[in-house]
Amino acid sequence: MTTIDGKTKVYAVIGNPVAHSFSPLIQNLAFAHHQLNAVYVALPVTAIGDAITGMRALDLQGLSVTIPHKEQVMAHLDACDQDAERIGAVNTIVRRDNRLIGYNTDGRGALRALEAKTQIKDAAVTIMGAGGGARAVGYALRAAGARLTIVNRSIERGRRLAGELKAMFIPLKQLNGLDCQILINTTPVGMTPNADNIIVSPAWLHDNMVVMDLVYNPLQTRLLTAAAAAGCQTVDGLGMLVYQGAIQFELWTGKRAPLDQMMQTAYQILQSRQQAGG
Ligand code: NAP
Repeated sequence: MTTIDGKTKVYAVIGNPVAHSFSPLIQNLAFAHHQLNAVYVALPVTAIGDAITGMRALDLQGLSVTIPHKEQVMAHLDACDQDAERIGAVNTIVRRDNRLIGYNTDGRGALRALEAKTQIKDAAVTIMGAGGGARAVGYALRAAGARLTIVNRSIERGRRLAGELKAMFIPLKQLNGLDCQILINTTPVGMTPNADNIIVSPAWLHDNMVVMDLVYNPLQTRLLTAAAAAGCQTVDGLGMLVYQGAIQFELWTGKRAPLDQMMQTAYQILQSRQQAGG
């Protein structure tokens, strides 16, 4: 890491909790790669309005915003880009000419992770879930020309998102098989400590499907394990996390993120944490 001195620019991830965040590791690696005099730290935050006032007062250069503040933070910013407005959530704040601008890089991160495996335009995509992750992924995939179906437990929330995305909607309880080329789980089903859970029947997975899980703890969720066994291509949630972080770095610095190194580091760290049971 660059030596910290009086001119070091400060960036951070804010949320609650943030202690296990991958962002400090991959963002500091990117700063070091470009020999930028900058540092990225994790700041646990409960009062989001106070944190943004603090960002202005302390001249913080950029923030990543995570759960539970992605929606509420918007009211405290000077402007948001079109993607963030549409999604209704901000995960990145950029300081530009002393104004704080909100962005959402989650959808584009998911898109890049999927595009590395398959073509999106005209693909039939089923998104399980209708929360923040689903909104970000849904808007990005729709813009890339996918044909979307939303499947959700709560009918009202699922219908609302499907309406916004001009997608089909199927209530989770009425789902009876999968007819799609790409299946994306955006629910927390399968996340540690409930890693045995799976959102769809493994028998519905077939070998010409690409299956993505936003959950990355564990990295190989039960859904991805079943998908691989059925011959599907799989896309794990850590790739999306790193891609969206690379887009954040590029928004903050205008420099190209060292994606391969960021990916490699994130996977090494996650694997060592999971082996250690953390
Ligand atoms: P969220 O806004 O709370 O939405 C959760 C969604 O999952 C809702 O649609 C909810 O359905 C559904 N759901 C929750 N529990 C369920 C269950 N037991 N059975 C069926 N459906 C269930 O959460 P989010 O922010 O979208 O995050 C969802 C997951 O994605 C989390 O695990 C998060 O860590 C992950 N994520 C990963 C990345 C990444 O970069 N890899 C980025 C964003 C999010 P109802 O509407 O019926 O409640």
